[in-house]
Amino acid sequence: MIKENINTVLENIDTACKNAGRKPEDVCLIAVSKTKPVSMLLEAYDCGMRQYGENKVQEMCDKMPQLPQDIHWHMIGHLQTNKVKYIVGRTELIHSVDSIKLAEEISRESCKKNVISNILVEVNVAREESKFGIMPEDAVAFVEMISRLPGICVKGLMTIAPFVENPEENREIFRNLKKLSIDIINKHIDNVSMNVLSMGMTNDYMVAVEEGATHVRVGTGIFGERNYRKE
Ligand SMILES: *Cc1c(COP(=O)(O)O)cnc(C)c1O
Repeated sequence: MIKENINTVLENIDTACKNAGRKPEDVCLIAVSKTKPVSMLLEAYDCGMRQYGENKVQEMCDKMPQLPQDIHWHMIGHLQTNKVKYIVGRTELIHSVDSIKLAEEISRESCKKNVISNILVEVNVAREESKFGIMPEDAVAFVEMISRLPGICVKGLMTIAPFVENPEENREIFRNLKKLSIDIINKHIDNVSMNVLSMGMTNDYMVAVEEGATHVRVGTGIFGERNYRKE
């Protein structure tokens, strides 16, 4: 089932790229494996999947040693400063930087470990009260501020769009994140690139790709529905 699901998602990404005149190789599919057992990640691995997204530090760290070393791990969930030390140097990209305090901690830990951590700034484009993320109007100043920290490199932006019945309803949100990234590029801030736009989930990744997503985070569409009841 996982194999068919991955193939379907990749085909849909292809279609969305065609619609937008983009190249499929410019879109990275991240398999969001939160709550799913290692056996399912391995099944995806055997289908060629190498990018995995987790939203909890503990779960990510538990899974890492049980899986092949050539996997790239993405931290996509809200990150507490006291957990930063467990993932710095072990993740491809931290998608969810949403406070100065968090950026400072990632910087401190990265310097200690002598690594550069690639990060994205999470922006609450939809202005949802329940969501984390910097407000769009604060994003430029925020990026300017954290760009001066040693040991971290701002690679782009991330957003979580609301759950909607019709993915078209989120098109404006994705478009606004893209626009914001262009505003930031035009500021020519040292040590900042905007090559990464992490947006789009199972329900709306095609629209996100049409609007410029470079990284889509797909969980349910690959591994099936999540069951939280046991936890
Ligand atoms: C769970 C999660 C996803 C994947 O959601 P699906 O709807 O299952 O594809 C993507 N991004 C973040 C930040 C998540 O927490």
